[in-house]
Amino acid sequence: MREQEDKLNPIKMTCISCRKPWTVSTKTYYEHNNQLVGTKYYPLCKTCIGDYLGEKDNEKYISRVKEILQHLNRPWIYEQWVKSNSDWGRYVRHVSSLNNGHKTFMESEFETEKIQHSVTTFEIEEDARRFWRGYSDEEIDELEYLFSNLTDGYESESLIQETLLKQIAVTQMKANHSTNTKEYTDLISTLSKLMNDANIKPTQKSNTNQSEEIFGAWIKKIEDEEPIPEPLEEFKDVDKVKKYLNKYFINHFAKLFGLKDVKSKE
Ligand SMILES: [Zn+2]
Repeated sequence: MREQEDKLNPIKMTCISCRKPWTVSTKTYYEHNNQLVGTKYYPLCKTCIGDYLGEKDNEKYISRVKEILQHLNRPWIYEQWVKSNSDWGRYVRHVSSLNNGHKTFMESEFETEKIQHSVTTFEIEEDARRFWRGYSDEEIDELEYLFSNLTDGYESESLIQETLLKQIAVTQMKANHSTNTKEYTDLISTLSKLMNDANIKPTQKSNTNQSEEIFGAWIKKIEDEEPIPEPLEEFKDVDKVKKYLNKYFINHFAKLFGLKDVKSKE
């Protein structure tokens, strides 16, 4: 018994790295949870560990801290590491006390788990990725939102219209992110032109008829396919126009420009 205790707690122990026979104490060695190492203190001296970790600003510092923790079989706990101000001595003292000194590296809490989790909640569907080929995930997310606002209550009947709507969404996104007044003005002007081309925007009465005809045909289609209930007799004409304008035009634009929907007063 006495002999065994002496082996586990020798008075002097040679460091497996520097080969120096340090007197064993908490000043020279760390206690550990490594089941394969029979001595109470890990036979790698504090000086060697400190030299290996190097300075805090060393780019390998954190990965080496984790490596030493694996040797000692102590946990890596990101939040504790931050609280310890990235100081190895403070950190290892704290984690060595957890669970009566039995908390192991397998019980680590890595910072990346949280980051990876938040990434997986943001998924772009394959269809959208194909549709918006060439754009980043963040851009696709925004484009999908803008595009859905455009297509909400408006069916694109042809590939040309769809292409125009795509261009409108892209232009709107660029305008949203523009920090340059000139560029912004140009983008809004382009946006206006694209809307004209897509017949989203009604043309002025004095202007040529063709677009108006197409716009009128679109309204007719909505009237036929998505009729709304008739209002009271006395409000009939006025209300109907207002509802159509709100539903298919004003709300649509309000959304496009990031404003709240205009609720019809009834
Ligand atoms: Zn050493």
